[in-house]
Order: sequence, then structure tokens, then C-alpha cells
Amino acid sequence: MTAHDSGTERRERLKALREAALHRPVLATGASNGFNGRWSRRQWAHASLFATLGVLVAAIVPGFGPAASKQPLHTQRSSLALALPPLPLSRLKGHNGDSWQIVRIERGQTLGAVFEDLDLPVATMHRILDESGDKAILTRLKPGTELAFDLPQGANGQPAELRTFRYDRDDSHRVELSLAGDKVTEKVLVRPTESRTVVISGKVGKSLFRSGRKLGLSGSNINTLTDEIFKYDIDFNEDVGADDRFSVVVEQTWREGELLRTGPVLAATFTTGGKLHTGFRFERNGKSEYFTGDGRPLKKSFIRMPIPYARLTSNFGTRKHPVLGRTRMHKGVDYAARTGTPIMAAGDARVQSAGWMGGYGNAVVLDHGRGYTTLYGHMSRIGKIRPGQRIAQGTVIGYVGTTGMSTGPHLHYEFRVNGVHRNPLSITMPPPEPLSGAALAQFRAQTGVALARIQKVENIIYADADAPAPAPAAAPGKARKPAKTKA
Ligand SMILES: [Zn+2]
Repeated sequence: MTAHDSGTERRERLKALREAALHRPVLATGASNGFNGRWSRRQWAHASLFATLGVLVAAIVPGFGPAASKQPLHTQRSSLALALPPLPLSRLKGHNGDSWQIVRIERGQTLGAVFEDLDLPVATMHRILDESGDKAILTRLKPGTELAFDLPQGANGQPAELRTFRYDRDDSHRVELSLAGDKVTEKVLVRPTESRTVVISGKVGKSLFRSGRKLGLSGSNINTLTDEIFKYDIDFNEDVGADDRFSVVVEQTWREGELLRTGPVLAATFTTGGKLHTGFRFERNGKSEYFTGDGRPLKKSFIRMPIPYARLTSNFGTRKHPVLGRTRMHKGVDYAARTGTPIMAAGDARVQSAGWMGGYGNAVVLDHGRGYTTLYGHMSRIGKIRPGQRIAQGTVIGYVGTTGMSTGPHLHYEFRVNGVHRNPLSITMPPPEPLSGAALAQFRAQTGVALARIQKVENIIYADADAPAPAPAAAPGKARKPAKTKA
């Protein structure tokens, strides 16, 4: 079918997808596990924009992970309904007068400050705090929290008095405290939330971060892709192009047509240079980790580059001095980067030393056990670490600089095995422990479904693209094994 796909056909397919998204947000893939919610105005706009560009598809992924099995089956479909800000309850209940004031908490704002802004007495606030049973929530308001105050105008120009105070106990419980004389009555409104597991797929375009955000991934989702799942196999500075694509399975929490939260990355694929990379979240020994399609941990003993967004300027080995014509050994690799760029611990380690080291300037030496040590030189300053401390891979240990014998800001990075300098770019590390037995079986069952869904979505969006290895029209229900990966 791909051979005959014309641009027209593709446009029609995308149009159909957009229609489906806008009017019946249920893709054919899972009618029984329907998406019965509404899209917010924002998503509506995004869907429309990005379907036109051909980069968005969000589809329901039934049955991924244990969470999905708890979900009720819905077959209800709602027509396009833009989510508007919730109507003040007073209106819904037919109070006289529209006397509600809705306040959205800003960073650093306290309940006391809100009461002061509204000219409400401190005593009223204390009554609410005492009666609500939610003192902890109300005294530590998070930015973005919505509070509402029913403030009917007092008679004869008297100041407004608080009749009802409304806040959210949690995502699904909205509390109304009505104050009448000495009495405070509590009413709890249950607002059901719903979790949906979706595939978000797109092309990198100008920036992975921007494209991902536009499609509804959180900033932390994108960091997970670049700094956790794919950082060992993909050099996001060098290897990635605008046409490379990503697909991510995430769980989203919705309420009344509004996206409340996007959870952690459950599964992800990244196709670059025609090669498919995959990663899946799975819990082992009570800890969530990312694994390859065949159950090997993605977290390696050492990361490839201890510094983000840097350029290799001098490789390991002998090099001829440009002036003297002598050859001399370069015992590490150099990465050029701006002064202040954070430097990360290449692996879990104990800090062996952190301080001035002659020609190395400000330098840190890490002991990774099993005879492995790493050295980081010419730092502008050293991070918040001290000798003897245990630190995790990725911990910031210092910042790029040009201290010691150095001609410009760069990181000089050395890698030693039993005291012998080795090339960190070519040395092979011992692999970490893969999944096995029951855990592996459970992992396979879980990831098979996710991968099949990702492929279904990708087949729809990219069917006429220059289909690289992962996206052929696979037989239904038969997920291709991910073609993972280099060691
Ligand atoms: Zn160097």
C-alpha cells in the first residue's frame, strides 16, 4: 500500500485523523476503551495545527501496564465540546448575584496574602483553617491552585462578607465551606478524573524540545528521552535530524475535559538514521528503570559524554604538536563548551578528590569501583561535592572553565582502568544485569502491547514516508521486535 500512497492520500489520512481527534476523539484502535472526554481549546488548536503539519497523533493505548486494567470501559462518545473554565458554583446553584471571585495562586503567594487582597479578616481565615481539616493543604498552596470566594456585597455599602469558600482537597474532591453565623458547613463535590494512556508521536523538526512540548509532552518527559532513555545510544547534538521521529507512551490524567497531568514516559521509540531505538519503563525491585526491548537496562555503567551539548575538540591518543612538530600523548578527550556548562559524573561513584590539581586547574577525580576512575579538569568551579561522598551517575560535579594549563573553556576528561589511561569513547564497559525469569515474562507482555500501539500510530502517520526499518505494514497483532542496539 505504501507504493501507491500519494501526497493527496496522505493529506486525506491526516485530515481524517484530525476529524477523528476533533469530533470523535476515539481512534479506531480502541473503541471499547474509548476516549470519552473533551478536548480543551488549547489542544483543539494544537491538534488542528499539527495534524496539518503531519506531526501529531494521539491514540489510546488500551492495556499498557497494570494501570490500564483498572480503567472502566467506556463506549460513550461526546461530540466536540471545548472545555471552558468551570462555572462558578453559585451560578449552577442559582444563588442570587454573581459574587464569586476566583483566585489562582501565584508563586510565593499564601492564603493570608489572598485574604488580605480580598479585604477579608484574618479571623475568617483561621476559622476556615480550623474547620476544614485541610490545614496542611491550605497553608502550603502550590502555584496554580485555584481558590474561590463567594463574596456577596454587604447591604448599604458594607464590605463584602465571605459566604462560601471553595478549594480542591485533591484532583477529584472539591470542597465548599459555607459560613453562616458561627456555623461552617462542608460540602464535597466529587469530580471524577480519568487516566488515559496515549501515544504521542512527532518529528524532531527544529528542536526536539519544542516539538515535544507542542505535542503535549512535559519538559520532564523530554528530559527523560534525552538524558535517560536514549542518551547512551543517540548523540542529540550530532546524530539527530529534523526528520527523525519519536513516539512516546504516557499516561495522562484528565478531568472535565482538561489535561491535569502527564505522567512519566512508559515507553518510547526514537528513529534516527533509519535505526529504531526503544526504551521501556519497568519496575524492578521496587525501582522504576528503563530497559531495551529485550529487557536489558538502559542505564549503563558510564554515560558517553559527561557534559551536555559539547563538541569533541581533541581525541585520545598521540597527536602532533602543530608548532614543535613533536608527537605527544593526549591522555584524555577534550570537549569545548561554554564556561559554566555543568559537568556530570560519568557513573555512580565515590568522590576521590575535588580541588586544585596543578595543570588540571580545578579538577575532580571519581572512583567508580572495580578499578575505574575518571578525571575532569579545567573547571571554572567545583560543584557541591566533597571527597569521600557517594554520588549517582549524572550528578553535577562542577562547571566548565579554563583553569590550569588551558587555552580556552573546555572539559578535559580522562578515563582510567586500574591506573591506565584508556579512551573513554572506545572502551567497552561491563554490561549491567538484564531482566530474567518472571520479571522478563511480565516485561515482554507489557512492552509488546505498547510497541504494537506505537507502530500502529506510526504506520498511520508515516506510511508514505521513506519507511525506515521499524515502520513497515506489519501484520496485525504482530509487533516487530525492536532492532536494539549497540553495546
Ligand atoms: Zn585535554
